[in-house]
Amino acid sequence: MVKKILKEAVKALLYVVLFAVVGLVVFLYSPKSVTSLNYDIDKSSPYDTRESRQELYGRFDSFILNQATSTPFVGWFVVSKGRKLFELRSKGIVDEINSSVVPEGKIKVWYIYNMGVVAKTSKHTIAFDIAAPYLSFSFRGIGDLADIILTSHTHGDHYDTWVLKKGKNLVFPTGTYLAKSYKDKNLYELESGQKVKIDGVSVTAFQTDHRRDQNFDFPVAWYLVEVDGFKLVHTGDGFNFKNIKERDFLYTQDIDILFANNQTVPFNIRDLSPKVVIPLHMHEIMHTKGYLETDGFSDVASSFAKEADSLKGITPYLLFWGESIEYPK
Ligand SMILES: [Zn+2]
Ligand SMILES: [Zn+2]
Repeated sequence: MVKKILKEAVKALLYVVLFAVVGLVVFLYSPKSVTSLNYDIDKSSPYDTRESRQELYGRFDSFILNQATSTPFVGWFVVSKGRKLFELRSKGIVDEINSSVVPEGKIKVWYIYNMGVVAKTSKHTIAFDIAAPYLSFSFRGIGDLADIILTSHTHGDHYDTWVLKKGKNLVFPTGTYLAKSYKDKNLYELESGQKVKIDGVSVTAFQTDHRRDQNFDFPVAWYLVEVDGFKLVHTGDGFNFKNIKERDFLYTQDIDILFANNQTVPFNIRDLSPKVVIPLHMHEIMHTKGYLETDGFSDVASSFAKEADSLKGITPYLLFWGESIEYPK
């Protein structure tokens, strides 16, 4: 009897081990369509204006749509080609940022994922809205290397708890439930219009609504960051300002780089008149397929093309996950 139970238990254990091994292989295996796209992005450059770069944008849009699902549940990310590509694109990104020496008078910017970017000067490293698809790992060390981590709001595609819990200085708009988990950090919960200085970097938050919903009670922020002579603006998912005077104040600022949600239309970008605009919140694979159909490179490119006059003198950069630019070029 005991022998029989033991035999059954060993059998069950073998099934569990087999299942785990197969799962791990499926999780780690990257099909050719993923590795070849990654290879071609690696060979390309954000400064490249040739036709081949444009084709790559189209190929990336199609790749994301082809692998998308109408219900992206966590288990799906084990097989998701989007996550696999992200994992390849973000492999080594932490070491790359760490070892990059940025000369004085320059700033280097890496695009991580969705609205997530890291900006590095000769003295500071600032991270905005660092998130990633479920079951991604390579990007997490950004929490250790950033001097300041800013989170625009508490939607899951704009923060990552692994990253936040490693951070030193964390910035949130006031009133989030999330900030309360990080009382042991240097925590800055900013009111609309409030400016703080953190290790020599100025940060100002501005309360906005969320994707034009006209609700100004949910904490959502745009940030103005002044670091080593550069002015950066990050829009999160914000669109309309609670306080119009604060928006008008931003219009008077000499903005170097605008990290703009793809909802930020050329008309608004013109009024902010940054030197460089980096459109973000594209290819966010934790959203549904229907959502992804309207937030690809091609959607931003056509919206920019329609309002080309508004964007005169402003340099746009469309970046792939893990790519970086230096400013001034
Ligand atoms: Zn959101
Ligand atoms: Zn979002």
